[in-house]
Amino acid sequence: MGSRILFATGNQDKMKEIRMILADLGMEIVSMKEAGIDIDIVEDGSTFEENAMIKAKAVAELSPEDIVLADDSGLEIDHLNKEPGIYSARYAGVDTSYTIKNNMLLERLNGVPDEKRTARFVCAIAAAFPDGTVETVRGTIEGRIGYEIAGENGFGYDPIFYLPEYGCTTAELDPVKKNELSHRGNALRAMRPIIERKMG
Ligand code: IMP
Repeated sequence: MGSRILFATGNQDKMKEIRMILADLGMEIVSMKEAGIDIDIVEDGSTFEENAMIKAKAVAELSPEDIVLADDSGLEIDHLNKEPGIYSARYAGVDTSYTIKNNMLLERLNGVPDEKRTARFVCAIAAAFPDGTVETVRGTIEGRIGYEIAGENGFGYDPIFYLPEYGCTTAELDPVKKNELSHRGNALRAMRPIIERKMG
């Protein structure tokens, strides 16, 4: 033991989620800011896993004693050949509001029936360990693209991501419930035994 977990993100919601899911490892968990690291990383990989690895390795070079975790996530819509995929944050331009992005996607699915509106959120997490090895895991949540924007919780594409078994979008779910079901939660839960094995 002795290592800390450094999560390579500036996003406070992600920090809260990772602290909740990895709490029982009994390790200190710090954000990039708390570790005093401030770098811009070019995510030029062609998969979620590659992008997560690029981030984890770049931060691990600056903080080689820590277990560095990084994630990359996005929305895959089957009818649109898995777009926006790794370009989810950049879809229609980084500065374009999610109301506009969501409406553009709804428009592109205009007339597409229920069974062809399948989609998933994907999250890859990479862990760079002090011994130089890197491991990746993937978590997903399956759903469908709805017919209109609905819900105030969550962020990004949540208002159009409909879960048929709950009868609502992930923006209408209670945030604790969303964490229980989410792609990021599933990826973090898959990463936990890998960290335990490495450090045990
Ligand atoms: P990143 O992994 O922080 O680069 O996020 C990628 C983008 O995917 C986000 O900006 C959102 O547009 C989208 N995304 C990822 N996870 C979610 C989610 O849980 N809800 C809604 N949108 C998401």
